[in-house]
Amino acid sequence: MKDKITKTNEEWRDTLTPEQYRITREKGTERPFTGEYVLLKKKGRYECVACGNELFSSDSKYDSGSGWPSFWEPVSPEKIGTERDTSLGMVRTEVVCDRCGAHLGHVFEDGPQPTGLRYCINSVALEFVEEEGGESGT
Ligand code: FE
Repeated sequence: MKDKITKTNEEWRDTLTPEQYRITREKGTERPFTGEYVLLKKKGRYECVACGNELFSSDSKYDSGSGWPSFWEPVSPEKIGTERDTSLGMVRTEVVCDRCGAHLGHVFEDGPQPTGLRYCINSVALEFVEEEGGESGT
């Protein structure tokens, strides 16, 4: 998927809820342990809530205890982009949707193997699509 999606803030406001807009376009953060996907263990895929880009699979989701949905890798590296974020007096690596530029969360180097990475993602920035015929876990 090479085609980038570019919209004005006005256009994004028309298609996103206020909370989705705050997180994805204004680099907001949902309060920990409040997101609908924090503890979700069903099999399926997680898409960008803004553009539908497939970003993460339930296969790489784990419970990091952080209060946000956590993954050790994206579906493929080109799905996401990263940017250096020095806000709030910290140096972090921001994770964005590569197709539409939506802010998703941050990636940290304290994740599990095989990558050792923790993609710490806002539930609000994601849309979960349950796998066809997939039995739900817990
Ligand atoms: Fe997107």
